[in-house]
Amino acid sequence: MLVAKFGGSSLATATRFRQAADILRAEPDRRICVCSAPGKRFPQDRKITDLLIDLAYSQDEEKSLLLRQEIEAHFQEITEDLGVRQADMLHGQRISERLKEEEKDLSVDRYDGLIALGEIFSASVMAAYLCKSGYKASFVGASQAGILVYKAGEHYRIHEDSLDKIRDQLVTLLERYDLLVIPGFYGRDAAGKRRPLSRGGSDVTAAWLAAALQADCEIWTDVSGVFVTDPRVHPEAQPLPYLTYDQMLEMAEHGASVLHPEAVRPLQAKGLSMQVKNSFRPEDPGTLVGPSLHP
Ligand code: ASP
Repeated sequence: MLVAKFGGSSLATATRFRQAADILRAEPDRRICVCSAPGKRFPQDRKITDLLIDLAYSQDEEKSLLLRQEIEAHFQEITEDLGVRQADMLHGQRISERLKEEEKDLSVDRYDGLIALGEIFSASVMAAYLCKSGYKASFVGASQAGILVYKAGEHYRIHEDSLDKIRDQLVTLLERYDLLVIPGFYGRDAAGKRRPLSRGGSDVTAAWLAAALQADCEIWTDVSGVFVTDPRVHPEAQPLPYLTYDQMLEMAEHGASVLHPEAVRPLQAKGLSMQVKNSFRPEDPGTLVGPSLHP
């Protein structure tokens, strides 16, 4: 089984959603899809998560209104092009309505409650689009997936103790569905509140889900693997075909932005592999991260 995680650049537009869905369809072993929030469509664009962070801090209703509209417009562009009706996702609620409701919800902390909504909307769109294309897919939120988090310093982390629960929940759901679409980047704390992981945390969600299911993990991004130098600056650079977990961890900790450093350990502990692949060029081999340099 494979857990396939799509980053923000791989879900920025309707075309990117279609390509991600094609990747999912191409390999029936891909039974779990983890979604990030949509990223930038063009260089001056703003990532959905950045807009949500601004909204969480906004004290000014006029500014909040514009932010809600901008977030909704980005998603609307995607759903309209994909032919997904907003009525088929989020229980028929409009995105701006849901945002407003969440802003007022006193049972969640405003910041923590809002910032992972991009992942929730993104996964809802993907699940609705896959269903519309005839796939037996289902949206599964973090609480249904059993993802429990705890506070470690400034951030939340996924609890190792939730692995059994995650496995039990997902195995049961996998009997009914071909594919489960799960938003990354958050979990529920012991009190049941939605809490975000640190930035880029959808990689971490994917790695823990893979560890729970004894599945390998794929990280679909906008570059063809892990590079020693930034391929956007050095176009002649070649990706590394293989990396050990420790090498990957060292690179991630030293700023290789392709992967969140916390995503390595859960896979290493279970000896599972991770492949970093380019969703723009799925035929490229990418980088395989595993126990040794020679798989
Ligand atoms: N959307 C979140 C971020 O921008 C999480 C993620 O992409 O993994 O940090």
